[in-house]
Amino acid sequence: MKRSLLGIRGLELAEIEDLLGLAAHYKARILAGEEIQRVPRRAIGLLFFEGSTRTRVSFEQAAAYLGYRSTNFAGPGSSMAKGETLKDTILTLKYERLDAIVMRHNASGATQLAATFFGGPVINAGDGEHEHPTQALADAMTIIERKGSIQGLKIAIVGDVMHSRVARSNAWLLTKLGAELNLVGPRTLMPPVMSHLPGAIQYDLLAGIEGCDVVMCLRLQRERMDSGLLSSIGEYRRLYQVNQRALRVAKRDAMVMHPGPINRGIELDDLTADGVASAIHQQVENGIFVRMAALHWAFDGSGTDTPTLRLADGKKAAKKAAKAEKAEKSERATTGGKA
Ligand code: ASP
Repeated sequence: MKRSLLGIRGLELAEIEDLLGLAAHYKARILAGEEIQRVPRRAIGLLFFEGSTRTRVSFEQAAAYLGYRSTNFAGPGSSMAKGETLKDTILTLKYERLDAIVMRHNASGATQLAATFFGGPVINAGDGEHEHPTQALADAMTIIERKGSIQGLKIAIVGDVMHSRVARSNAWLLTKLGAELNLVGPRTLMPPVMSHLPGAIQYDLLAGIEGCDVVMCLRLQRERMDSGLLSSIGEYRRLYQVNQRALRVAKRDAMVMHPGPINRGIELDDLTADGVASAIHQQVENGIFVRMAALHWAFDGSGTDTPTLRLADGKKAAKKAAKAEKAEKSERATTGGKA
């Protein structure tokens, strides 16, 4: 069976657990230095019609670990710059015999359209203001690693909820996994029809993050914003910046997240972005493993020696991964970072 990963909203809990279990399994194997069986002759297209650092590189890394050939393709420099439609581009790539497409596009729903014409698996790497499923999976994996489970955690997503696909995918994922969710931000940056998203709304930062186990910041999506939504960046910073002072009302061991890229000094201050509570680098690294899981899952594991795992098995693998990570870190420390 081949399948697309277009969003979190339509996933069953069992599918989410499979994806997280697989990601933990791949992380454990890679950190332990184990060989991953390479899948021969599988070719995927990485179509990024919008800027990306983390997502694009981690899909490239994921594909390379799995032994896939990947071809990079972006709007400028392609026939789309000559006016070719998205439909014709996707059909062209289908007959170029690509096996799967990973796609980022500024239009919400563009990946769904691509899946209709492509026929094979399409993985959504972020479509407009709709969803960014692999980011949310990386975030969930990071929370599970730090907190053990998501069930019963109090989590706040803070900032530009209206324009954020990361907020949407996380809202679905975290509530499906049993978190109590607050969506926090100024009225002008909250989606008009909140009933479409799970979670309680809070317009006050301190009320929204009080007692939280996890505070997830969002980037201000200025490229998607009509002017006039914020009176000033200074005012946003004053009212919504997650910093050491604001964090005093969260749980003492609260973790801080941001999907990146960060507007430093706006959504987060430096101390918080770089402090011990920050899980930002762990989110980036886990991005590789959830993308390996997504690629594996899209082909239902065909061609690999790895069975699809449930979260419980994945958790065992995660423990192994944490051990391996610790060992790797102490080795790096003893070799002065030269390992
Ligand atoms: N990198 C994430 C995305 O593409 C978050 C962001 O850009 O704000 O959605």
